[in-house]
Formats: sequence, C-alpha cells, structure tokens
Amino acid sequence: MKSIALIAHDGKKAELINFILQNQKYLKNAHLFATGTTGSHIEEAGFQVTKFLSGPLGGDAQIAAKVATKEMDMVFFFRDPLDKHPHEPDVQMLMRQCDVHNVPLATNMASAKLMILGMVQN
Ligand code: PGA
Repeated sequence: MKSIALIAHDGKKAELINFILQNQKYLKNAHLFATGTTGSHIEEAGFQVTKFLSGPLGGDAQIAAKVATKEMDMVFFFRDPLDKHPHEPDVQMLMRQCDVHNVPLATNMASAKLMILGMVQN
C-alpha cells in the first residue's frame, strides 16, 4: 500500500479536495497522511486520513521526517505562491527532503495529475 502525503495551503485547500474527489479511485487503496487542517477537510470529504500537526505548528516538518525515513512514497503539496506563510522554512525543508530522497513531489494541480497518471501506470 502506498503512503501518500496531502498538504494544501489555505488558498489551495478547495482545489486539493476537488483533486482528491476526482482521483478517489486511485487514492482509495493508499494510506493517506495530511497536515492537520488539510486532513480535517479530507475527512469531511469522506476519506480516512492520518493527521499530523497543522502546518504552521510542525505538520510539514513531520511529513518531511517521514520522507527522510523512507516512509512516504509521494507528496502532493498544493502551495499558494500568492500568500505568505510563517512556516516557509518548514516548507522548504520538506521540498528539500523530497529531493534528497528522490520522493515524487507535486506542488500544483498540473503536476499532481501527471503524478497520478504515473502511479496508475506503475
Ligand atoms: P494545514 O497546513 O493543513 O494545517 O493548514 C498546511 C500548510 O500550510 O503547510
């Protein structure tokens, strides 16, 4: 079973939920993880998800730790480039860990769709 991390900045949460609903047949057999508030939205949409702390309180850092220990297979992080985030250092750290450990990371809808296609073909 694949372990998939789902994170969205506030301005992108609705987009992430739509994405999950559109791709639920591909995600239903995965173990979903999320930062706190994103995870609550995912639960409200009817999915089971393991929630970490809210992003600004360390949730991104917790997911980065899972990436570093090879416990996360892919990361969907819908970032909002038009807003400021107090936890930007943690965001950078998560993206760096994905690069260090060669873990697929999608930071927008277009790349997320391609990553799902890749997952289906594998
Ligand atoms: P949140 O965190 O899901 O708790 O809002 C996401 C983030 O901003 O990193």
